[in-house]
Amino acid sequence: MGAADLFNSARVTSFVRSAAHNAEVGGAAGSKHLRGEAADIVFPGSPSSWPMARVRAAVQRAGLRLRDERYQTRGTGAHLHIETV
Ligand SMILES: [Zn+2]
Repeated sequence: MGAADLFNSARVTSFVRSAAHNAEVGGAAGSKHLRGEAADIVFPGSPSSWPMARVRAAVQRAGLRLRDERYQTRGTGAHLHIETV
């Protein structure tokens, strides 16, 4: 998967949430989504096939923190949760 394909295939599934929506999707209390400081991203295919090394490098270049290097299943289903530092 090339760099362009990596990000063309990424889909942001959650960004800013209201308190009600955060509760509805099972988000953590005090979630950074409440302040628009987190995003959830999914890629096509099984999470075990996601291009994690490339994602990690891109996230670090952008100055963000990748909270879980694999994926989380809490809340909106399997996704990468990234947060601003
Ligand atoms: Zn999240």
